[in-house]
Amino acid sequence: MEPEVSKISSMFSCSCPRCRKGKMFKHSMFHPTKFYVPQDDCAHCGLHYEVEPGLFWGAMYVSYSFAVATIVSIWLFMNFILGVQNLAYYIFIICSALVLSAPASFRYSRMFMLYWFSGIEYQPNYQHTK
Ligand SMILES: [Zn+2]
Repeated sequence: MEPEVSKISSMFSCSCPRCRKGKMFKHSMFHPTKFYVPQDDCAHCGLHYEVEPGLFWGAMYVSYSFAVATIVSIWLFMNFILGVQNLAYYIFIICSALVLSAPASFRYSRMFMLYWFSGIEYQPNYQHTK
């Protein structure tokens, strides 16, 4: 029997929420141009990832909250820990952080929607029949 994969670790590895084995994205998160290309269905259990129309529209709001958390965290750190006074530094650092974190934000906002709002249950022994 295979060891059970936790919900959090399978979410961070962008695995299927039903079987936790198939991958949701075709390429690595670090691929410069194809980090966002998703699989339509799970290669292992056959789950169609967009379980209802517009599910991933909600991921935009999750992604927005990630961006706000990033901006506030950087502002707090730069203002209260480093004591930076120059506005140009804030703009440069925050814009750089948002661009660099865009692939992770894109992926994890979708995974967040799939794991927490889609209603898909973990079924480790699910058998895919074609
Ligand atoms: Zn699956």
